[in-house]
Amino acid sequence: MDLNSVVYVESVNSNLICCVCQTPFVDPVVIESCGHTFCKNCITQALLTRSTCPVDRSHISSVNEFRPAAKIIVNMVNELLTYCPNKNAGCTYQGQRQLLIYHLKEECMFAKLACRNEECGEMILKKDLSKHMESCKARMVKCENCEAKVQLSTLEGHKFTCPVKNIECPFCHTTRIQSEHTLHLEECPEKPVTCLHVEFGCSWEGRQCDLSDHIVSCSYEPLKGFFSMYKQRNEALEQENQQLRTNIQELNNTVDLLENQVSAMSDWLSNFTDPKGLSSNSEGQHLNSSAHDILLSGNDHIKNEIENLNFSLVDIDAIMTENMRMQEEIQSVKNICHGLRMQMHYLLMEKRGGEPSVGTTGSVVRTGLNGPIGIGRTVPPNANNSKSGHDTSLESNMRPPRSLGPESPRQEKL
Ligand SMILES: [Zn+2]
Ligand SMILES: [Zn+2]
Ligand SMILES: [Zn+2]
Ligand SMILES: [Zn+2]
Ligand SMILES: [Zn+2]
Ligand SMILES: [Zn+2]
Ligand SMILES: [Zn+2]
Repeated sequence: MDLNSVVYVESVNSNLICCVCQTPFVDPVVIESCGHTFCKNCITQALLTRSTCPVDRSHISSVNEFRPAAKIIVNMVNELLTYCPNKNAGCTYQGQRQLLIYHLKEECMFAKLACRNEECGEMILKKDLSKHMESCKARMVKCENCEAKVQLSTLEGHKFTCPVKNIECPFCHTTRIQSEHTLHLEECPEKPVTCLHVEFGCSWEGRQCDLSDHIVSCSYEPLKGFFSMYKQRNEALEQENQQLRTNIQELNNTVDLLENQVSAMSDWLSNFTDPKGLSSNSEGQHLNSSAHDILLSGNDHIKNEIENLNFSLVDIDAIMTENMRMQEEIQSVKNICHGLRMQMHYLLMEKRGGEPSVGTTGSVVRTGLNGPIGIGRTVPPNANNSKSGHDTSLESNMRPPRSLGPESPRQEKL
């Protein structure tokens, strides 16, 4: 982009004009010795032929005598309003000279670009480029059969070498390329089809080319209005049915939710009817579920303990009863012993020649008869043998067994 050739919107102050190129300065520099300002490019070119200032002819030794122009000069030329160089092609852009390069590169739709297809070589306005790419004679196209990308100009030749063969229709046995084959399958006259009213019950089947003839004579054709009305009504009913099912499901969900809430509420209320829960609440403690569980398990434990204790009490009862019975038995044995001692005492008295009183004898006999039968067996056999003739007599039963012999001295004291 040559900024020396741009067209300015307004006339430019003559102090900003380079005397070499006669246009506003581009990249202005000042000669140190004489103070004249030029475009950097202009003065560099001028010094190649003559080493003097183009204005006052003073001598300039080298380019080292240049310095950049004052910032205000640079800004003034950079901010000059210009037209787009593509104004004649149609671009209406006006803007600062320093923005022109950006406009041409990014914005200007009237800039000319080379076609992206190398074989084409045409220069195209940017605004026309996408349209050109669609119709460019050098564009790449896709083979419809093998999907390979080939240049448009070679497509006809490719069809002879394309690796994908033409496809044969299975119904009419004609052949064509793949893209046309799909469409042909829909329209093939030999394709087997069913009647259009098959859903209402017509069982006709035949070639697609015979379908229109069948429709004329099809007995379902005159009724198709009724059938379609019936079908619509059926569909509406099905839809309504579905809606009702959905409603029922929603209601069921609501009922489930409410049941859960009621159950949670009754659980919560049971905290108040339970005396433990009430006392906890009155103390301001929140009885949470885990604490509740701990209490419940404690309760169960105590219940088990009580049950065990009950069993033990039953055992103790049985033992007590047994004990009482034993005591009674011991008492009766004691009574028998007492009776026997009395008898022995009586016998000893008799042996010494004393006469026992009638009352005493009566009581002794009664005691002996009331004693357990087992007592008789404790009498050793030799005791019976000593007086064998009187075994069944009352006296033989009253006679003390020998085992009691050693106690006799104590009995005498009684
Ligand atoms: Zn110049
Ligand atoms: Zn000068
Ligand atoms: Zn432009
Ligand atoms: Zn092109
Ligand atoms: Zn191909
Ligand atoms: Zn076919
Ligand atoms: Zn039919």
